[in-house]
Amino acid sequence: MEIREATERLMELQSRLSAYQHAMGIIKYDGVTTGPKGVAANRAHTLAILSADQYALMTGPDTKELLAFLEEHAGELTREQNRMVFLLGKDLKFMDRIPQDEWVAYRRLLTQADDVWHRAKAENDFAAFEPLLKEMFETKVKFAGYAAPDEDPFNFWLNHSEEGTTTELCDRFFDVLRERLVPLIKKIGEKPQVDNSMVRGDFPAEKQRELGLWLMDIFGIDKEHCGLEETEHPFTSTLGSHFDTRMTTNYHRESFTPSMFSVMHEGGHALYGMNCNPDYAYTVLDGGLPLGMHESQSRFMENYVGRSRGFIRFLFPKLQELYPEKLGSCTAEDVYRAVNRVQAGWSRIEADEVTYALHIMVRYELERDVLAGKLAVHDLPAAWNAKYKEYLGVDVQDDTHGVLQDSHWCDGLVGYFPSYSLGSAYGAQFLKKMKETVDFDACVERGDVAPIKAWLKENIWQYGKLYDAQELRTRIFGGPFDPTVFTDYLEAKFTDIYGL
Ligand SMILES: [Zn+2]
Repeated sequence: MEIREATERLMELQSRLSAYQHAMGIIKYDGVTTGPKGVAANRAHTLAILSADQYALMTGPDTKELLAFLEEHAGELTREQNRMVFLLGKDLKFMDRIPQDEWVAYRRLLTQADDVWHRAKAENDFAAFEPLLKEMFETKVKFAGYAAPDEDPFNFWLNHSEEGTTTELCDRFFDVLRERLVPLIKKIGEKPQVDNSMVRGDFPAEKQRELGLWLMDIFGIDKEHCGLEETEHPFTSTLGSHFDTRMTTNYHRESFTPSMFSVMHEGGHALYGMNCNPDYAYTVLDGGLPLGMHESQSRFMENYVGRSRGFIRFLFPKLQELYPEKLGSCTAEDVYRAVNRVQAGWSRIEADEVTYALHIMVRYELERDVLAGKLAVHDLPAAWNAKYKEYLGVDVQDDTHGVLQDSHWCDGLVGYFPSYSLGSAYGAQFLKKMKETVDFDACVERGDVAPIKAWLKENIWQYGKLYDAQELRTRIFGGPFDPTVFTDYLEAKFTDIYGL
């Protein structure tokens, strides 16, 4: 084989893998958006066949021969090509250790679990979801055993999804957060609570959708290439390439803020993926780095931009126009304080920036214990409720508002949750660096996110998956990751709001 032929085959392989990803992604997307609710078995049938084909393509002799040849000729490849070979090789090595029938059964399980989770959440019926959840966790332990028999399964999944993320790193990180945030929460609790009555009431979905679409324009998200639909749990999907991105949100009648911040959050994911080098489309470099890096971008737009005093001042006239009866007689400062009200509650998605990390710690510890065999899936609801009481002082009313609230486990995502808190902390360090050259506060107050996006594109977005996450972060930070930048930010912001 000649190098030229091999690199052409490399591009062809990735193009075909993208097509499978596109087809499977749109089928799943249809199922959670507009598809009728009784067709999950049909979806599972098609997805099982497509994932078997995808598995065969990925682990077949042609792919192995091609990647082995390219690895041998690494010196003749570009940086991009070498990274493609590395990322594909990593996937191949992982999938190759899992028997094909078990891989397909797992994909089928995920489709079924997603369907049952939606019903179980709606009906507060953990028992219906329990056997599928048990099978999902067991499969995760088994797959980790195939891939890395000597490694702790939970640590394997943390590190598999984002290299360098380990239980040791998470434990150290959460220790820092606990040490700094628990006293902060206590001090806030001793102060008079912020009034948030102006953002609570009855807010029809249509106006919330109007606000979401308007925010997409403010963020400069190209609606020709990015949609916005409603789902039980908000997410962002890239279908086939970053030229087709789908965001979702969820409209709660009692407040417009969860959906508003979900659109900002998912908007951050969408912007990251959609602004990568267009040449990376239909390759494994497309989109953005997973987990912590992706969540750093979503939480950046949601919190550092969206929950800033300046951006709320900018938003305020639009919010008053949409909700004159609720917001007609208050000030932008009232809304800024309301959307930053610190109050422990049952919901992760609606949590404020300070208590958010406690929601993550609950999930992190429960997943770790289930995968280690220390906690039975049957006992998860009780363990969940006990930790919410202990860490947040919250009595969880039922499993719908407790252990069933998130969609991650039915999607097979284990080891994902720490990435939200890590991402928030990475974001604080990005913000500090960005402020050296961008007048961030003036930009958000004008609603002009272009200079902010330009910085993120230049330093992060354009590269897609070209660099390893740690390498990219170190280049930007100019040193190691420092979680105290995040805790300093929180202390300063909430000392100001609560007058501590
Ligand atoms: Zn996210």
